[in-house]
Amino acid sequence: MKQNHYDIIMAGGGAASRILLYFLRLQPGFDQLQILVLEAENHIAEKTWCFWTQQQQHPFEHLIRKQWNELEFKAGDYTTYESINPYRYCCIHGADFDRYFNVAFFPVYPNLTLLQQKILSTEHTNHLWTVVTEQQQFTCNRLVSNAALNQPATPMLQHFHGWFIEYNHDVFDENRALLMDFALPGNDQFCFFYLLPFSNTKALVECTYYSAKAYDPAIYQQQIQQYLLKRFGNHFSIYHKEQGAIPLQLHKDASDATPALINIGQSAGMIKPSTGYAFQRMVEDSRLLAASLHKEQPLRRKRHRRFRFYDGLLLSIIQEEPGRAISIFQQLFSKSSMKSILTFLDENSTIAEEAKIFSKLPWWPFLKHIKLLG
Ligand SMILES: Cc1cc2nc3c(=O)[nH]c(=O)nc-3n(C[C@H](O)[C@H](O)[C@H](O)COP(=O)(O)OP(=O)(O)OC[C@H]3O[C@@H](n4cnc5c(N)ncnc54)[C@H](O)[C@@H]3O)c2cc1C
Repeated sequence: MKQNHYDIIMAGGGAASRILLYFLRLQPGFDQLQILVLEAENHIAEKTWCFWTQQQQHPFEHLIRKQWNELEFKAGDYTTYESINPYRYCCIHGADFDRYFNVAFFPVYPNLTLLQQKILSTEHTNHLWTVVTEQQQFTCNRLVSNAALNQPATPMLQHFHGWFIEYNHDVFDENRALLMDFALPGNDQFCFFYLLPFSNTKALVECTYYSAKAYDPAIYQQQIQQYLLKRFGNHFSIYHKEQGAIPLQLHKDASDATPALINIGQSAGMIKPSTGYAFQRMVEDSRLLAASLHKEQPLRRKRHRRFRFYDGLLLSIIQEEPGRAISIFQQLFSKSSMKSILTFLDENSTIAEEAKIFSKLPWWPFLKHIKLLG
């Protein structure tokens, strides 16, 4: 008879579950835990994850495809680039990540069961979770969820299309990634291009918008085509495409979860609301969570409330006054070092460092949006 009770059920086998398991395997007693991962899709992520780190040896070092030591920012005619030392900006292909877990991770641990089943409902009664899928019913003591079950729709999305392209001659500087290029004229859209050169001829170029809904694919494609034509010419071929939408919302703290239910990843607010970055935050959260999962109230990645406030302000300006948000970004990158911006976005800056960054920005829009948020 098939087992249907587990110590832990993971609802969703996405990035956050896999990262948590990666750290959990290092804990004493891991092989005694019976863990079931329920994932609705046949999971191979069509995502390109980027993050920055100061670590010489990142936990997923073996999956990093490319790293850059310089970052560039552009807005109209304005350009700046600089070294981000001691950080490096790293890229992991979602397909490499999932292939590693499917081939070299799950099969190695007999206490892990990965099933492709869609969860229909979860219920907690008498200290036990009942998880019902389209095919079966399971019980567990602890439910760890990254499936974003019952999440409300988000008011703002970061949505994008990307082309993996190859030119027939050298056009890129492969040591420098382009973080943002606000290349489109006009003030009514928060839209930028993002370019990761994998070599002097190959790159991923993305066109990203912030708005309530994703657009017709033709819109991004036309923008990317025109952008490439204008900057690098038309001698390129497309070898792959990707698209995505990241929900941007101000979330409660992960530590608000009940002891029996542990939300992780997007469900735990790991996506930074103003930027859409989550990978490194999930790594940091999972490291802490894995080491304390045996406790009734496990440790989580802490974020100071003031960062939630900054994210809310920035999102409000982006939503209500996209043109002003672009000029704030331009002033931010022209007056503060890339390193200090990355530390700030990591939420590792001190209040004094934040005051220094904000003192160089126009105060009026922030004041206005504090009033709007209030
Ligand atoms: C296209 C894209 C690109 C991104 N790029 C970056 C980046 O460069 N850098 C960065 O830091 N962050 C990035 N992010 C943000 C973040 O890192 C990812 O969204 C990340 O995948 C979040 O992990 P997660 O585990 O919370 O969600 P997911 O990885 O989406 O996992 C959730 C899983 O739950 C499953 N599921 C949902 N409902 C059910 C159900 N009813 N039953 C069973 N399973 C279910 C889904 O199939 C999915 O596999 C990106 C996000 C997207 C969408």
